[in-house]
Amino acid sequence: MRELHIVRGRLTPAAKQESDYLLIPFDVPPGMRRLEVKYTYEKHGGETVVDLGLFDARGATFLQAAGFRGWSGSERDHVVLTEESATPGYLPGPILPGRWHVVLGVYKVAAKGSDYEVEIRMSDAPGVPPYSPPRPLPSATSQRAGPLWLRGDLHCHTHHSDGKASVAELATIAQERGLDFVAVTDHNTISHHSYLPAASDDRLTLIPGEEVTTYYGHANVWGLNQWVDFRCRTPEDVRAAFLWAQSRGGIVSINHPKAGGPPWEFGYDVPFTCMEVWHGYPHYNHEPLGVWERLLQQGRRIVGVGGSDTHLLPPPAAREFPIRLGRPTTYVWAETNTVDAILAGIRQGRVVISCDVDGPRMEMTLHLDGRTFHVGQTLSVSRGRALTVEVKVHKGRGGVLEIVHDGRVVESTRISKDDVGHTMRIKPVKSGYVRAQIRAEEGDSRVWSSLPLLALTNPVYIHILEGD
Ligand SMILES: [Zn+2]
Ligand SMILES: [Zn+2]
Repeated sequence: MRELHIVRGRLTPAAKQESDYLLIPFDVPPGMRRLEVKYTYEKHGGETVVDLGLFDARGATFLQAAGFRGWSGSERDHVVLTEESATPGYLPGPILPGRWHVVLGVYKVAAKGSDYEVEIRMSDAPGVPPYSPPRPLPSATSQRAGPLWLRGDLHCHTHHSDGKASVAELATIAQERGLDFVAVTDHNTISHHSYLPAASDDRLTLIPGEEVTTYYGHANVWGLNQWVDFRCRTPEDVRAAFLWAQSRGGIVSINHPKAGGPPWEFGYDVPFTCMEVWHGYPHYNHEPLGVWERLLQQGRRIVGVGGSDTHLLPPPAAREFPIRLGRPTTYVWAETNTVDAILAGIRQGRVVISCDVDGPRMEMTLHLDGRTFHVGQTLSVSRGRALTVEVKVHKGRGGVLEIVHDGRVVESTRISKDDVGHTMRIKPVKSGYVRAQIRAEEGDSRVWSSLPLLALTNPVYIHILEGD
């Protein structure tokens, strides 16, 4: 038994004004075991870009879309699903009878409009598997004794969206780079999640993630095994989607908030925990740090993280390829090397970022009355009392250690040895924060982007006790 549906229509700027997503319904009869979708549209030299996704009979409603079956952006014009296997980006499983929807995401459309054609084929025979990578059994991972600083990368892509590597290839590169964890954050899908346990082992923890990729900004969600709806157009949509994810245990991080695309256009009055303050792109890399600083000065508590946003795994010869896994590297203080422990460390803000896997590493603590406060923690103190700021730097030689207090550099000292410790006293008069960073000197070969830093810590927050 076979069925073929062909749907033709026209996309226009006026229709995009109404909605960014066009749902095309079609009915699946009982007994189907293979579904294929192909689409074409008039591209008008790139003025029109249309993305593809699919929902099954369990539903396609925003934030209640139990029927999510996959998303491929504009990467693929032909996708196949069977019970056992699916094109990367799509979820294998029963071809449930009932009303399904193809979703066309209208990223942009030429002023003159674009005709499209969607071809849907169904068959009761599963046919050739569309994707059959080796699926080794999950390895018996043992937990490391901790707590310990783990180094990782919180943002990268595989061929489950627009990246080039499989999950297994990504894991191999991560181990060669010496990373302890990698969050795999494919765009708008979770089809990679089922491949993560098998590619993880004692040395490498792969964290399930999704880059929630709206047409107005991107955000990572880590630690959820459920798909997060990305079809957001307004700050209210984003707030609802983030709350949905957070209430189920996900951590939300706003990605690459910079002018040089894609920016974050929803504003920051939405619930999120982290911000990607250092990303893999050489250009505009200084901008997110400025956004973070401004929000910290407004009293917000946001965990700064790094993420390379690697899509390609460069061949070994491409030593100078700027975007690489682990560039920058995010250090997380974790009780052990499980996904939950790493995510708990991130939530607590026990996070330091370095320019590369072999870049400088730093630790900052504040001290008061014999007590020690780590990054991410809050110290309560009377106005004007002196605190000690202590910074330890490993492999920082040649940089300039800066201590930043409420947006101002209050201490600046050249690092002349590989391992140094530095202390200073501050007397805060208002609630705020202290963080530390290593600024590179002109011409430092370790700098690969427009952000002239070698490392930075998250803040220790200071709460001034009133009335005494
Ligand atoms: Zn992005
Ligand atoms: Zn990305």
